[in-house]
Amino acid sequence: MTGRCLLCGKCCMQLIFEVPRLQNNRLLREYYKARGCTTKANLVIIPSRCPHLNKDNLCDIHNTKPILCKIDRGRSEKYYRPEGCGFQKTL
Ligand code: SF4
Ligand code: SF4
Repeated sequence: MTGRCLLCGKCCMQLIFEVPRLQNNRLLREYYKARGCTTKANLVIIPSRCPHLNKDNLCDIHNTKPILCKIDRGRSEKYYRPEGCGFQKTL
């Protein structure tokens, strides 16, 4: 994995969950899109800015943030990276 974090905050501006077989289910994809979500493969991406993301795109609860936030999301092979993320690999 190459690249660097641009401190853009995009990874704190969305909720992501996986729906099994979503990519083969057109009706479900249409439903999520109609509700303002994006779908990629089997992922649903919901625009949702975390209330702890401050105006400088830094986390206001850095020392006590959830464990999933402590994972180096930019560098994790498993983590979905938003468009424009400074780390190269995206779905
Ligand atoms: S990991 Fe990627 S999306 Fe998240 S702040 Fe860094 S550059 Fe932005
Ligand atoms: S708690 Fe902090 S690191 Fe986690 S999503 Fe919110 S702003 Fe981002």
